[in-house]
Amino acid sequence: MERFDAIVVGAGNGGLTAAAGLAQKGLKVLLLERHNIPGGCATSFCRGRFEFEVALHQLSGMGSPEKPGPLRMALESLGVLDHVEPIEMTDLYSVLMPDGFRLALKAEKEATVLLLQERFPAERDAVEKFFDLCYRFANELISAFYFKDPDTSRDKYPVLYEYAFKPACEVLEGFFKDRLLKAVLSVYWGYIGLPPTRMSFAYLALLFFTYMEFKPYHFKGGSQALSNALIHRFLSNGGTVRFNCGVEKILVQEGRVRGVLTEHGDRYEADHVVSNVSQILTYVELMEPEHVPGGVFREMRGRSLSPSAFTLFIGLDCEPGAVGITETTNFLLDNLDFSDRVLNQMQALDIEDQLLVLSCYDVADPEFSPSGACQLNLVTLKYGEAWLRVPPTRYFETKYRVAESMMRRVEDIFPGVRAHVEELDVATPMTHMRYLGHPFGAIYGWEMYPKDTMFFQPGRLSPIEGLYFASGWSGDCGFQPTLEAGMSAANAIYQKISGE
Ligand SMILES: Cc1cc2nc3c(=O)[nH]c(=O)nc-3n(C[C@H](O)[C@H](O)[C@H](O)COP(=O)(O)OP(=O)(O)OC[C@H]3O[C@@H](n4cnc5c(N)ncnc54)[C@H](O)[C@@H]3O)c2cc1C
Repeated sequence: MERFDAIVVGAGNGGLTAAAGLAQKGLKVLLLERHNIPGGCATSFCRGRFEFEVALHQLSGMGSPEKPGPLRMALESLGVLDHVEPIEMTDLYSVLMPDGFRLALKAEKEATVLLLQERFPAERDAVEKFFDLCYRFANELISAFYFKDPDTSRDKYPVLYEYAFKPACEVLEGFFKDRLLKAVLSVYWGYIGLPPTRMSFAYLALLFFTYMEFKPYHFKGGSQALSNALIHRFLSNGGTVRFNCGVEKILVQEGRVRGVLTEHGDRYEADHVVSNVSQILTYVELMEPEHVPGGVFREMRGRSLSPSAFTLFIGLDCEPGAVGITETTNFLLDNLDFSDRVLNQMQALDIEDQLLVLSCYDVADPEFSPSGACQLNLVTLKYGEAWLRVPPTRYFETKYRVAESMMRRVEDIFPGVRAHVEELDVATPMTHMRYLGHPFGAIYGWEMYPKDTMFFQPGRLSPIEGLYFASGWSGDCGFQPTLEAGMSAANAIYQKISGE
């Protein structure tokens, strides 16, 4: 049986950075991935002449070489920045409605404040105060929480203490009267998966802060280019990877990990295993029940699953401007209702007036698609349960019926777009479940209710010695948090092994 210093299960963002970080420190590492390419969500696929981006809409935390954000510094330290080309998006997002309403916000605080003040003059003071609050909150959060201040108090961090557990909706209601303005400022709930009534204000404030301070980014070649760069770095530092090789069991003896058994029947030994998959899969399917401490299931029972997604990948035979698309990130709104009704909509199969996010990467990077063409990634959130109930014989009919209603929503805002469709593919929650292995195809890990925000997440440690987690299930979801989670797991293992 071959022995490694560490084994990583899954080559999503967290698995890739854990593996690359460990190999960089000179450890002998095995990375096992069920799929045939690296990336998990951070991937692409080809149809016709298009290579479609699967997940990344806006990368947070990058910053420019002159003003690097935490993610740029982390990727630099891993040695992958020479192998990718980050692309900055200057627009934050656009909000578009079928009645002709369009508002494009810039990824810059002062410009956005001015624009909103002009558009909503009655809310002038409130606009400025709201963004000041977001910045003050984010700064206090970063000092107290991310820099682990051992001496936090209400006096030292008054804004953090006052707002940390408030729902975003409550804070927006407290600042603004105009329903349209509240709707415009709450659309980032789509990146968290909970309506503003349930989403913590902490996430809204952090999203505005990070995208305005460090700008939203993408990569030339899409998120697959980053995944490829990470695996390249891992291999060049002596790592071993096996694709098409799912882990069937994590081997545990006397309360500590001993290695893994693959679906092909191969056993590998290691005292340290990093799981890049959900805790549910790790503890329920990859382990024998007698090895799982009882508290683990009790803790998991208090959490619920985030939604999955329904996505249209559309290749157009024209440039974005030809159909009226002028911004990279576009939120399509049909109404101003952000009550809990949104939860019911996410539970239903069909898409009616739900929030849609349309990304057109070619706006920020005209070379993203073949010359004279562009691609649209159109996504809305859906829980997987209703899709699991669709009989296999009705699956394709249902999928294309829902896709058709989504397409009509796009036409309401960009008339004539249908005539330019050259390629179209559709992903449902079942697609995410199949490719990622996450229960019900959940794309954001555990649901992030205020009681489950960053302050209370399960974290990378397991009560089983030698088992670490690095994924969107062990902390916040999204590219930046998962990439950072892998590096943090690598550091913890290295410290343990080297005694540093
Ligand atoms: C449609 C969509 C849009 C998104 N948009 C954004 C965005 O704009 N910005 C942002 O920051 N985030 C976004 N996200 C979220 C982000 O993509 C994820 O949070 C992140 O990529 C998850 O990384 P992860 O490390 O948790 O691994 P995952 O991507 O979940 O990958 C897990 C890996 O484990 C593998 N695996 C599963 N079981 C096994 C097994 N038994 N053995 C071996 N391997 C196994 C899977 O094949 C997979 O490769 C989006 C996600 C989706 C799906």
